[in-house]
Amino acid sequence: MQLEFFGAAGEVTGSCHILSVGDKRILLDCGLIQGGKKAARRNRDPFPFDAHKIDAVILSHAHIDHSGRLPLLVKRGFDGSIWTQNASADLCEILLKDSARLGEQDVDRRNRKRKRQGKKLLEPLYTSADADRTLKKIRGIPYRKPQEILPGVRATYYDAGHILGSGCVKVEIDENGQTRTLLFSGDLGQYDTPILRDPEPISHADYVLMESTYGGRLHRDRDQTISELGEIIQTARQSGGNIIIPAFAVGRSQELLYLFGKYYQQWDMGHWKIFLDSPMAIEASKIYWDYPHLYDEEATKLRKGVKEMPPLPNLQFCKSPQESRNINKLKGGAIIIAGSGMCTGGRILHHLKHNVWRGRNHVLIVGYQAQGSLGRRLVERKPYIRIHGENIKVAAQVHTVGGLSAHGDENDMARWYSSFKNTPPVYLVHGEKRSAREFQKKLSTDFGSEVTLTDPGMKLDLISGKIIDPGVPL
Ligand SMILES: [Zn+2]
Ligand SMILES: [Zn+2]
Repeated sequence: MQLEFFGAAGEVTGSCHILSVGDKRILLDCGLIQGGKKAARRNRDPFPFDAHKIDAVILSHAHIDHSGRLPLLVKRGFDGSIWTQNASADLCEILLKDSARLGEQDVDRRNRKRKRQGKKLLEPLYTSADADRTLKKIRGIPYRKPQEILPGVRATYYDAGHILGSGCVKVEIDENGQTRTLLFSGDLGQYDTPILRDPEPISHADYVLMESTYGGRLHRDRDQTISELGEIIQTARQSGGNIIIPAFAVGRSQELLYLFGKYYQQWDMGHWKIFLDSPMAIEASKIYWDYPHLYDEEATKLRKGVKEMPPLPNLQFCKSPQESRNINKLKGGAIIIAGSGMCTGGRILHHLKHNVWRGRNHVLIVGYQAQGSLGRRLVERKPYIRIHGENIKVAAQVHTVGGLSAHGDENDMARWYSSFKNTPPVYLVHGEKRSAREFQKKLSTDFGSEVTLTDPGMKLDLISGKIIDPGVPL
């Protein structure tokens, strides 16, 4: 009985760990490494295991940094089942298809150039057909219902409060009469996230495999974030312009719509035309509104009092490109939510192009903007941005609201850990080294826990609790 750390050990993305029980191999997640050319190359590297010999996958949630290499695993010969929570299974359908499509489009674009240069043509990491074959292997299970994954291996999903369907997974393993319980946190959400329930308390585990994205950092207070949003909307109304919101299709878009509905009266939302201009976000919304039994108390109450979600009579969905272009005619009074979340492509670009040079318009940044992205230039108040080869003046007011992160901060993570009645040893993953080190300090100081930072290739014997291979730092 062994656990080997492979991906998201010493970094954030590419979540993937290998559990060995007897002669069976199970992957915990199989995510894409994200962030530039080097990451793209690493995604193409061979796995440190034979894909044919993996018997099953336990997937924590649908985000691409956890699920994005599943189609590659299938392409390379994996033929078992992929287990995840029901809503995650539905969201995977959107996210994996999109990931395949983006990969294919990128390769097509580069191949057009390479053809002209007489260079060898590239292949996408995986195709839409690989994604379709992967989706057929996904099996959804409800929260809190133990599921036998393989003989001697049981998985139970608990709500992680991160995105719809996100799970902390309790894996109970029997081998030769010995039992061990491994708790895989997946990604943990903030407490009081709109719509979603709080991360569920879990009372016992022998080992905890835990994320550490925001180790050493604290988010802005929830109430403050909400009043900040309300104030920005009021200010924008007074200036008579539009509000452009770049947002991720899954999670953030739905949270915003939910908040607009919840504060409809208080924020005078009725004066606006609200557009959800993203076919992918429209699809994801359908799934979000389809799972009311997963909502927190507040969202459940709100849901009961309205005909449909979100309660926004002035919300318009833009599926076709023409509907999207029509919004450009509006010089004021429109709130436009579009992707991509970091303004690296997609419909948000033409909305920025038409709005950002006018002083009375507003850009509302509600998600993380990576170094090098166009969204980051907006956050940094650069005087110009470049869209489709054109320099465009940034005269619009840019507001950054930082408190809506899908990840819990250091206190949230420690609060979740405090629910264990024993003080299980912790293995930190899904965090840059610095954040992991900070969080290691926090857990050892607050709880006296034994906390280990992981490296790729590190192997833990789950019977003895000993590290049998330290692995190699990135
Ligand atoms: Zn996630
Ligand atoms: Zn993640």
